[in-house]
Amino acid sequence: MNIKVGTGFDAHAFGPGNAVVLGGISIAHDHGVIAHSDGDVLLHALCDALLGAASLGDIGQHFPDTDPQWRGADSSRFVTAVVGMLAARGLVVGNADMTLLAQAPRIGAHREAICTHVAALLGVERDCVNLKATTTEYLGFIGRSEGLGALATVLLVPA
Ligand code: MG
Repeated sequence: MNIKVGTGFDAHAFGPGNAVVLGGISIAHDHGVIAHSDGDVLLHALCDALLGAASLGDIGQHFPDTDPQWRGADSSRFVTAVVGMLAARGLVVGNADMTLLAQAPRIGAHREAICTHVAALLGVERDCVNLKATTTEYLGFIGRSEGLGALATVLLVPA
């Protein structure tokens, strides 16, 4: 079976605001994120993992942050567009595993909503999507709560 694996990473700095969007879900927080789009690190890392697995470059090539049409964009649109690119190449998602790197916000209460939303975007069953979260034990820019990051790994399989 011609299976393909991809990885993605993203990070954004915190800035003014009262919520962050993670996995398509808006979560109340004492900061927002500085970004051209909605700054959803989970979905940005996920897009890069999907694109990487399919040898299609990276999110910045397809959705440049200099393009006004992506200003404030719901990053779910990026995932949907990428899933369409994969479908055109006869590929579907097998599973996706994501890790949020943040001191805050804590996402335990939102984990189910995020995984359900991401599964719908990817067109897979809920149990094919996993979300983990870790702090960095107060180390580095994430530990100092200057921003947050995310990792994603996906498997693509023939449709
Ligand atoms: Mg990003």
